[in-house]
Amino acid sequence: MHIGFLGLGNMGAPMARNLLKAGHQLTVFDLSAAAVASLVEAGATAATSPAALAQADVELIITMLPAAAHVKGVYLGDDGLLANVHPDVLLIDSSTIDPQSAREVAAAARQHGNPMLDAPVSGGTGGAAAGTLTFMVGGEAADFARAQPILAAMGKNIVHCGGTGNGQAAKVANNMLLGISMIGVAEAMSLGVALGVDPQVLAGIINTSSGRCWSSDTYNPFPGVMDNVPAARGYSGGFGSDLMLKDLGLASEAAKQVRQPVILGALAQQLYQTFSTQGHGNLDFSAIINLYRKDDQA
Ligand code: NAD
Repeated sequence: MHIGFLGLGNMGAPMARNLLKAGHQLTVFDLSAAAVASLVEAGATAATSPAALAQADVELIITMLPAAAHVKGVYLGDDGLLANVHPDVLLIDSSTIDPQSAREVAAAARQHGNPMLDAPVSGGTGGAAAGTLTFMVGGEAADFARAQPILAAMGKNIVHCGGTGNGQAAKVANNMLLGISMIGVAEAMSLGVALGVDPQVLAGIINTSSGRCWSSDTYNPFPGVMDNVPAARGYSGGFGSDLMLKDLGLASEAAKQVRQPVILGALAQQLYQTFSTQGHGNLDFSAIINLYRKDDQA
């Protein structure tokens, strides 16, 4: 299939590469010329703008952009995708944005005669490179069925979450829980160690007891407990604290629109905001444990 791919960053570039590997023809665009050049070297064709990409003979377009403002600009702008795309071309936005914005853009797309899915992902840059992402998809069932084989080239769990915006709703709920659970594990690990328990012994207890969760058994924030996690390499790489702050902001905004209390989510947002203000936004989100640790702790 001839696919347009727009947004070739940490996630988009490896996702686009997997589409090429699966035998699809790709036309790509990014504001970064270097990002485009790297995909062209891998076999893609470069477009000079979103409009040019839309006017190329693509059958489907995928976008992977930082935030809602970029998504609205790229789809709704005068020189954007909707003003230029052929009718019936399926549009898939995999950026993480708020459900309301996803619904607004999809409604505008429908008015132009284009079906649209929101399909945010989890699995990080490792999952993007390995083609093992989870896609949380919102939109019509028939459009989901059309997208499924394409998404399967980039991910292994492709889940239809319901109508438009529901993919983003599932994503913000999951990531809010992740932020809260990471802070919970950081707090509990710090308390146990301050009370004299060895961190590895404590992690072993938690991971075989009722406190166990992904943040404790797969991504433990306490240094020295696990290999191959950001805590083992000074919290470099991984999922940045500022991206977690963005996702907690999306959860709070979405919650406000449906008048749903997210008390711990709001607290988690404030803790990550504090951490970011202290200049640590680039560290992996498990570094939030540094808000709790004393200098003399192991
Ligand atoms: P990134 O900043 O690395 O990449 C974004 C890309 O979009 C950049 O290459 C940038 O040049 C391009 N871009 C921005 N505005 C553009 C425009 N107007 N036209 C064309 N290109 C434009 O971000 P990322 O890490 O790839 O994340 C993308 C999305 O995926 C975000 O919404 C993020 O929250 C989400 N996400 C990221 C991860 C992760 O681990 N990095 C995991 C899951 C979801």
